[in-house]
Amino acid sequence: MVVVRDIHRLDSAVASCRACPRLVRWREKVAAEKKPQFEEQTYWGKAVPGFGPADAPMLIVGLAPAAHGANRTGRMFTGDRSGDVLFAALHAVGLASQPTATHIDDGLTLRGVRITAPVHCAPPDNTPTITERDHCRKWLDIELGLLKPTLRSVVVLGGFGWQSLLPVLASNGWAVPRPRPKFGHGTRVDMGTIRLFGCFHVSQRNTFTGRLTPTMVEDVLRAAGSHAGLL
Ligand code: SF4
Repeated sequence: MVVVRDIHRLDSAVASCRACPRLVRWREKVAAEKKPQFEEQTYWGKAVPGFGPADAPMLIVGLAPAAHGANRTGRMFTGDRSGDVLFAALHAVGLASQPTATHIDDGLTLRGVRITAPVHCAPPDNTPTITERDHCRKWLDIELGLLKPTLRSVVVLGGFGWQSLLPVLASNGWAVPRPRPKFGHGTRVDMGTIRLFGCFHVSQRNTFTGRLTPTMVEDVLRAAGSHAGLL
């Protein structure tokens, strides 16, 4: 059992994790080869910690870093099309200081919101294995435990995050209903001190096809922010 006393130490521990050989090889290969448009940049190429305040009342849970997004910038959801949608929506509802997130020093701050993922390393084809997800669960477990005193709302982007999160909530003492609630956009589940909000993932597959619109994302964020006392 890993003992981590605060979020700052957790973030450092995550960034130096090398527990999944396939993901370590992939994230470092991508970081060495780069995309032509980012050739001048030094990729992060490590596990990407959560982003946002240590006493956040609201948490957003995604899937995993993108190869040329967070694996390049070192900050969750930053620098890719999914992040463009998410940060624009966070800014529109008053939870982010700016609508864009391009690199780690761009000045973006979140108000009462932390963003994390059940898998902290970029996976090939955006698809981690179950074993990799299970390896990474320890970090989500610790993060939820550290956030527990202040946490009130959790927005889960997509079914993978939902499935990964429920057992972690249960192991941290939240009352997860039985049978376990199914993921869906607009689903809301109360679990004692927190309310869970389901939202389709802000992936290009969803946003380019119109399955998920900016208004739909903003509506979920507004409801979660309001429940958390932020709006
Ligand atoms: S996915 Fe998680 S457990 Fe695996 S190497 Fe990355 S940070 Fe470590």
